[in-house]
Amino acid sequence: MPINTMDKEKFLKAVSILQGRYKIKNRKEKPFDVLIHGILSTRTKDTTTFPAQRRLLSLADTPQKMLKLSDKEIKDVIYPVGFYRTKAKLVKRACRVLIDKYGGKVPDTKKDLMSLPGVGHKVASLVLVWGFGLPFIPVDTHVSRVSQRLGIVKKGTKPEKIEEFLEGITPAKDRILLNHLFVTFGRDICKPVSPLCYKCPVYELCEFSGKKHYFDRGKKLFNPAKT
Ligand code: SF4
Repeated sequence: MPINTMDKEKFLKAVSILQGRYKIKNRKEKPFDVLIHGILSTRTKDTTTFPAQRRLLSLADTPQKMLKLSDKEIKDVIYPVGFYRTKAKLVKRACRVLIDKYGGKVPDTKKDLMSLPGVGHKVASLVLVWGFGLPFIPVDTHVSRVSQRLGIVKKGTKPEKIEEFLEGITPAKDRILLNHLFVTFGRDICKPVSPLCYKCPVYELCEFSGKKHYFDRGKKLFNPAKT
């Protein structure tokens, strides 16, 4: 059974419209920094994850230095990320594997990355796309929501399936940008609770059943003179 409702042509048109609006550029960071970001990011907002990541990396920016820190030092410096006690342990265990199995370097394949403690599909894809510039699509909460609302995939599709499907229909050059593009759009307009459908650049292409409701609501709330 297909998991999409929107056809590929419409999808690519939506991507092109959004890219025209946001002009997302390639993001390039050190693979180790992205790995640490990814492990800390699970169930934690970016506004908490990025400062915690910076604090931790200012103390230890290599796996070798990280292993010299105690669990308590890591835990204290990454607080208040969610599950900070568990994540402190995962960071150290991942660094141990990097040293023992990969000569202290972050591997550049999905399979090897997913063998590291604390690394699942999303984090592995984040490292591949931001750290190595490879065409992968990490599916976080924004990519998942935007994909389902637009109709690229059906409601309730699991993140791993969304990732597989998006990677199958997106040209490589757009794959590198898609996570950042949908995250930006998801924060700016296609918001989690009340999407701003009244000013959405892909309104005509969107297959979300509630879009008319949010369109009318937005016009009333934000544009009373024009309703
Ligand atoms: S019309 Fe609304 S629900 Fe559809 S993509 Fe735009 S903001 Fe999201």
